Amino acid sequence: MFETMAATRLESLHLAQDPRSGLRAIIAIHNSRLGPALGGCRFLAYPSEQSALQDAMRLAQSMSYKAALAGLPHGGGKAVILRPAHVDNRAALFEAFGRMVESLGGAYITAVDSGTSSADMDCVAQGTQHVTSTSSAGDPSPYTAMGVFSGIRATALARLGSDDLEGVRIAVQGLGQVGFALAEQLAAAGAELLVSDYDQGRVQLAVEQLGATAVPSAQLIETPCEIFAPCGLGGVLNPDTVGRLHCTVVAGAANNQLSSPQMADELEARGILYAPDYVINAGGLIYVSLKHGGQPLPAITAHLARIALRLTDIYAHAQAEKRSPARVADSQAEHLLYGN
Ligand code: NAD
Repeated sequence: MFETMAATRLESLHLAQDPRSGLRAIIAIHNSRLGPALGGCRFLAYPSEQSALQDAMRLAQSMSYKAALAGLPHGGGKAVILRPAHVDNRAALFEAFGRMVESLGGAYITAVDSGTSSADMDCVAQGTQHVTSTSSAGDPSPYTAMGVFSGIRATALARLGSDDLEGVRIAVQGLGQVGFALAEQLAAAGAELLVSDYDQGRVQLAVEQLGATAVPSAQLIETPCEIFAPCGLGGVLNPDTVGRLHCTVVAGAANNQLSSPQMADELEARGILYAPDYVINAGGLIYVSLKHGGQPLPAITAHLARIALRLTDIYAHAQAEKRSPARVADSQAEHLLYGN
């Protein structure tokens, strides 16, 4: 455990249990140089305690990088609640988690993530004020989609020479909360949409409402297009898929798109411009951070515009330094976090 903490430069790890509600939770705080740690709370059944710990530590690190490059006054943190086989009283479990968050005195601010909802965060709020994305705070997904849309335009400008998406073929993988909202904006901008999702209902909706063309999930990655936008699960850019891509740009919402850092170098070698995932998908984090800080909507949308500027800066450095944008983004984030 301490080895992984050292490798990810994790500041602290907190464990708590509450036998009455069945809570068994981990909070990983990666870095607090820029401010209190902010990051979602997962509620999942893990194959082992070790895998839950690894998940919390790895995700906390990527939240630090995301917050730093988004220019937010936050470090990265992540919470993982091990989902029991049976939950008698879900509200009591999340209230107990709220007390755990409160015990850290504001060093960690929690939010929704896989397996949790705004209703759960309302229960967390019974025990702490250090919580965002409650029912009253609102869903961050539309803001993630807005940020990805502006990031796609910035990436198109850098690689295709224009940010006009009229007639540009864009393959959107995953039409969930973020992917569908993104597809709506792309369709409104005149893009030619190719879409896939495991949920055929979502695909049908995109075909009927947005004039998209449905492509089987297994084939989307190798379908010729200008821009491939991964908006499903992570790890989609891996040794099996990178060689099959038929695009010039990869820019989408999914977290942890690269199965390893080497995949970014392979994309670069193939002449594909990759928008670093934690830079382009920071819109939701920007929303929850500024909303928690009491900022009005115009300030939030103004801050979202920085995503495109940051990407443009990263691409300029990548070109000048002959490195992949992912490597440049990591270096910039590490400079902000560690000053080296
Ligand atoms: P979601 O669960 O609402 O939607 C994901 C959709 O993708 C589902 O409909 C699923 O069926 C589909 N999908 C998954 N893998 C697929 C594949 N290989 N091919 C086709 N379809 C596939 O999730 P979401 O909130 O829309 O988030 C999408 C991605 O963006 C996730 O990786 C998430 O971590 C990331 N992200 C989300 C936010 C946010 O604000 N919701 C913020 C930052 C990053």
